Amino acid sequence: MKPIIGITCGFNMDAGGRYYVNEPYVRCIERAGGIPLLLPGLDTKEDVKRLMQEVDGILLPGGVDVDPAHFGEEPIGELGSVEPRWDQLELYVARLALAWDLPLLGICRGLQLLNVAAGGSLYQDIPSQIKGHIQHTQKAPRWHASHAIDIEPGSILEELLGKEGIRVNSFHHQAVRVPATGFSITAKSRDGIIEGMESHSHRFVCGVQWHPELMVDHYPEQLELFRQLVRSAASLRATRV
Ligand code: MN
Repeated sequence: MKPIIGITCGFNMDAGGRYYVNEPYVRCIERAGGIPLLLPGLDTKEDVKRLMQEVDGILLPGGVDVDPAHFGEEPIGELGSVEPRWDQLELYVARLALAWDLPLLGICRGLQLLNVAAGGSLYQDIPSQIKGHIQHTQKAPRWHASHAIDIEPGSILEELLGKEGIRVNSFHHQAVRVPATGFSITAKSRDGIIEGMESHSHRFVCGVQWHPELMVDHYPEQLELFRQLVRSAASLRATRV
């Protein structure tokens, strides 16, 4: 039986309010052998919890900035858009997924959100807070692998992607600052910015700062991240039924 992967929905108030998930996330879960289920922000936490009981894994997608109040900071001038309803949903979903040991993949904002949910902190804005940084908001096409990363030997990322000459795309102005306890840093760009993290103590909890869902047509190995999420969710599913 195919596992169900919950994808948290973005939210904004444009056009009277809108829930959304970008198409490539849905397509990658489907291509990796999972069934995507879109999870909206709801007023009642018990209802979100009920939905979480129906899924075998979680994908936290990219999106707007995380509210720095969630890691004890005031907003600096360069902070971008924040969406409280989105933060509230994903902090709840991420913490529940960690508590239940549900397989989880966080992408871009999803990595940052995961780190904050687990007690870590973020840089609110790379250009104003980090000296000597390379370009992390690329002007190249969205699929293009614009900067190098170095992957930690022995990590899940190394298993999935190898470690030689890995390059990734980049669309972020925030980044992980202090990693949450219980997580390893598994990839960094050459300017020292954290590009990947994973948990020591869960079956599969992994975050990446790049956007593999936009790369898969040109760099097929990037689908392995989604395949690992689906495989891990499938093995959990097998123990539940
Ligand atoms: Mn980057």
